[in-house]
Amino acid sequence: MSDEATAPPDAETAGSDGHGSRDQSPREANKEETPQRAEVSNFEIVDHWFTLAADRLEIPEDVRAVLSSSYREVQVQIPVSLKDGKTHVFSGYRVQHNGARGPYKGGIRFHPEVDLDEVRALASLMTWKTAIANVPYGGAKGGVNCNPNELERGEVEKVARSFMDKIEKVLGPTRDIPAPDVGTNAQTMAWLMDEYGKLHGHTPAIVTGKPIALEGSYGREAATGRGVVYMLEEAASRAKVKLNGARIVVQGYGNVGSWAARLAGELGCKLIAVSDASGAIRNDDGIDPDALHTFSSEGNPVPEYEEAEKISPDELLATECEVFIPAALGGLIHEANADDMNCKLIVEGANSPTTPAADMILAEKGVFVVPDVMANAGGVVASYFEWVQNLQHFRWTEEEVNERLGDIMRTAYSTVSDRSEQDDVPMRVAAYSIGIERVLEAARLRGYLTDERVPSNG
Ligand code: NAD
Repeated sequence: MSDEATAPPDAETAGSDGHGSRDQSPREANKEETPQRAEVSNFEIVDHWFTLAADRLEIPEDVRAVLSSSYREVQVQIPVSLKDGKTHVFSGYRVQHNGARGPYKGGIRFHPEVDLDEVRALASLMTWKTAIANVPYGGAKGGVNCNPNELERGEVEKVARSFMDKIEKVLGPTRDIPAPDVGTNAQTMAWLMDEYGKLHGHTPAIVTGKPIALEGSYGREAATGRGVVYMLEEAASRAKVKLNGARIVVQGYGNVGSWAARLAGELGCKLIAVSDASGAIRNDDGIDPDALHTFSSEGNPVPEYEEAEKISPDELLATECEVFIPAALGGLIHEANADDMNCKLIVEGANSPTTPAADMILAEKGVFVVPDVMANAGGVVASYFEWVQNLQHFRWTEEEVNERLGDIMRTAYSTVSDRSEQDDVPMRVAAYSIGIERVLEAARLRGYLTDERVPSNG
């Protein structure tokens, strides 16, 4: 564990390939290769956008070094005995990037490809995201390199509880509050809360994204997808898209993708192609997003849905549509496939779905992109609402949650959009600029930075 803000990417916990040292146990999950990933790592993607905005803001190198590195990086061993009778050693990570604006906040991912580089990138993204949405949090992220799809329910529970036991010292409702991400859900959060409670007493505000029966918030489960759709509504006219009848393609049909598709359907959008980790489908007459959600949440792979034809992931990306929503993993839109895309508007539900090289290609093609760092903030905003309710032990209605979520998302959109026009820069650069300014302002007011050279947002 390092308490220093300057730990380089290859320090201590990282392997010689620049990635975190991986679990060495001989389980199938280690053999999984995900195709069509990017030419750059998630960390390089986030660092690229940060650097571009920091250059424009003329942030001095020494101040930049504080902002671009993590405050604390924890790597832990998670030995769990599985059904084969053997003990398997997973690696768990919690990275706290910047806490100037409030307690650290960020999801926990269970996925075989999780490593320190990815978690570090996602933690940094959370710092800028919470600042852009203007909720009083810093940025963090966590993960375990296990494959929950290949584990039994009781085994996932063991991983979750063991992970909490190892990292609870750096967590707390006023220190660092985890939430769900890829491969984790409300049930995982319930186990994490329960494990924390064994040591500290009942503490619902230790995690967000909990089940409703355990002081979760109405509206939290749908919030990231709902936020994506609020952004879609805001961006449609700018991208010259008429929502009623607009054709939508969704990459990844988990929490974010399926909610975005279902809520976009309520606006009259037509879902024509969808993918998940196992493949993709297309039907130009429209795919019923609710029926597909029911089908996939019963554990069926999307390509087995019979009301559509199977296509390849590359064909999904090239499908002619008005709106493309990435809602899977990072780096899936990259230099080698961005030019094939055939849409007017991309609303990034996933984190870091687009590499910098792909982003340039899309800009040249005239595709309007609402970047991840604002587009998928709905989850953390609703998590903030859940935390507020937990601290007060008082529950809001779903209407209140959705209304307040809409207010925050629309304000974020208009603030970034105005800045983008004023500075004549893409939305992503405008968003990062606002995020960086807000974090700097907080750091200076707290006395972490006494440097008058840094720009002020106040
Ligand atoms: P999830 O685990 O519920 O769903 C992920 C989906 O992506 C699954 O359908 C999976 O099969 C699919 N997938 C994985 N690899 C794929 C590939 N190569 N091609 C196509 N599909 C693939 O996860 P989620 O919570 O919906 O998160 C999705 C994305 O949204 C992630 O990037 C996550 O970081 C981001 N995000 C999630 C939240 C949240 O509140 N859940 C908030 C902000 C951002």
